[in-house]
Amino acid sequence: MQTQLQFDNRFLAELPGDSESRNFVREVLGACYSRVQPTPVRDPKLVAVSSETANLLGIDSKDCASETFLQVLAGNKLLPGMDPFAMCYGGHQFGNWAGQLGDGRAINLGDVVTDRQKRYALQLKGAGPTPYSRTADGLAVLRSSLREFLCSEAMHHLGVPTTRALSLALTGEEVVRDILYDGHPQAEPGAIVCRVAPTFLRFGNFELLASRHEIKLLQDLADYTVKNHFPESGPIGKANTYIEWFQTVVQLTATMIVEWMRVGFVHGVMNTDNMSILGLTIDYGPYGWLENYDPNWTPNTTDAAGRRYRFGQQPAIAQWNLLQFANAIYPLVGEAKPLENALSEFASLYESGSQQMMADKLGLLEFESRDTALFDGLGKVLSLAETDMTLFYRGLAEVTQAMSPTARLNCLRDAFYDESELTDPVTNEISGWLNDYLERAAPDPFSDEQRRDRMNQVNPLYVLRNYRAQLAIDAAAEGDFASVTELLDVLRKPYTRQPDREEYAAKRPEWARHRVGCSMLSCSS
Ligand code: AMP
Ligand code: MG
Repeated sequence: MQTQLQFDNRFLAELPGDSESRNFVREVLGACYSRVQPTPVRDPKLVAVSSETANLLGIDSKDCASETFLQVLAGNKLLPGMDPFAMCYGGHQFGNWAGQLGDGRAINLGDVVTDRQKRYALQLKGAGPTPYSRTADGLAVLRSSLREFLCSEAMHHLGVPTTRALSLALTGEEVVRDILYDGHPQAEPGAIVCRVAPTFLRFGNFELLASRHEIKLLQDLADYTVKNHFPESGPIGKANTYIEWFQTVVQLTATMIVEWMRVGFVHGVMNTDNMSILGLTIDYGPYGWLENYDPNWTPNTTDAAGRRYRFGQQPAIAQWNLLQFANAIYPLVGEAKPLENALSEFASLYESGSQQMMADKLGLLEFESRDTALFDGLGKVLSLAETDMTLFYRGLAEVTQAMSPTARLNCLRDAFYDESELTDPVTNEISGWLNDYLERAAPDPFSDEQRRDRMNQVNPLYVLRNYRAQLAIDAAAEGDFASVTELLDVLRKPYTRQPDREEYAAKRPEWARHRVGCSMLSCSS
């Protein structure tokens, strides 16, 4: 290997760990983590690497293909300086306090310090059991790992805050899963993703300590987090610093949700253990992308009854999660009012962020208060017939002032799933809205072409459509890894039309409408 990675594991150095070194399932008290070794696997194979993430870490591209690298990314080998551990955290799952959860199958290898003095934690997901595995096996299967690998990188290229993925490897072992939890367990290929982020700390790390009244440790963890990740919040130990920190977490979270809504991303499991303290999209499980616009849609069948984590509810859930986080750090502040004030800021931050985001999606110079009526009208228009959100905005960018009503509608035609839904009343309503829109856009200082180009910079053409991910999974399971690499390559330039890659932008085909993995996903992974 050419690459010499420098590790500095400050989480281990600065915070207390579990005194028990054996690896068995248990409650871990008075500690932020447990040291644990990845479980060796039989026959690892590299499926894909993200060259951008490798680059971020300063890993030589030739090394990505080396045997040493593969053994490290599959959990069979440690590099000098790595010191593996699993984090201890809790969380609210589907609205209920779940107690200790922790890294049940993710194992941190250590923090890489790059030449540019940036730090990134490397983490293997699916690398075997830890003290936090509860009743599960610590493993992950190809389909969910491939989805996590691709989506992390796709989100990055879209400009959405996210944890990153360095690699996807098969373990050569079989993992049994009952995909729909309906009594049909099957052996699936096991896999491991190497994830990368400045830290994997979640709201749940703080919540667990607060729930146990481990206030000294809570403060130590908060101080660690502020010192290393939010130094601008102020000196540690001061109530005001924790308030500033909370305000920043509120802002980062609001920004992340605005971005999810912009690109049509549904996380699927917004439990507080899946909320990054840095406002990064984390823990890609049964996520999905809106195809036909439907604010009530969730891909997660495990959440089908209450649809708690449906697309349109993500902002409200983020705020609810921030409330849980505020409750957790309350002992460090000692006063509820400033935290309440910061929390209530979420609504206005989200609203203003979302208004500007919608104005950008429509190519407007800036949001004006009268635009809320236009946005409401748009929500209605998108719901009249089954309409692909992604293709709609790309089509809308092509509509010009000079076009006839029919020509304008033709620009949008690709976005509709069923032409027969385009009855006269429907097309009249769409045309009416298009008129309002173009009238609103007219005084802005942009030509039709300039407006189109602006819109195409914020409205992606290529998103990780659920059925596309599934096709790549099917191919990879047959040993065809080129499909994964090709899809990753398409997703590198989500805003740019790529010749000969039209099919990657195509709306969901009929066969995928109800297929497991395409429109229906569960927490089984
Ligand atoms: P998730 O909903 O996937 O974020 O997971 C919730 C909790 O379950 C976390 O503590 C995970 O580490 C744990 N978990 C999920 N799947 C497994 C597994 N196969 N083995 C061990 N722990 C798991
Ligand atoms: Mg999780």
